[in-house]
Amino acid sequence: MIDAFEFCRLKERREGEIAIADLPRLADESADRAGSVSWELQGGVDERGHAQLILSVKGAINLMCQRCLTPFSFEIASESILVLASDEASADEIDAQLADEAVEVIVGSRNFNITQLVEDDVLLAIPSSPKHEVCPDHVMPTAEKAVEKESPFAVLKNLKK
Ligand SMILES: [Zn+2]
Repeated sequence: MIDAFEFCRLKERREGEIAIADLPRLADESADRAGSVSWELQGGVDERGHAQLILSVKGAINLMCQRCLTPFSFEIASESILVLASDEASADEIDAQLADEAVEVIVGSRNFNITQLVEDDVLLAIPSSPKHEVCPDHVMPTAEKAVEKESPFAVLKNLKK
């Protein structure tokens, strides 16, 4: 827990590592709850004077491929710019003012939960329907038999008839 506004005002920086097994919503999405993510949080102020956090998250998570139903490792490498608002109303106001897709406006607090922020960030970064780019070949024994060619000798035999 940090005081998000003080963290930005003092331009503090913090980093850490969290096991995927300790992030329940993320663990649910993962194939085996293995691995961890490392994060870095930098506080600051944007050019309009809003408190701003820059969050970078790196790591890997094993996701289940929705096409072939085998797990694969998905690389996480995200960097987000988060502007802090004091409440929901001013969050909407700042969001309209910034009109920047790359910046997210969130409600900051004096007991701000970094773990939850990291988890939210990773949940947004992973695909909703994860798939291998190219699924590994799983040649089924039955499928192999089906494509087996007739031997050239058998073909010759048939020709002689
Ligand atoms: Zn696959």
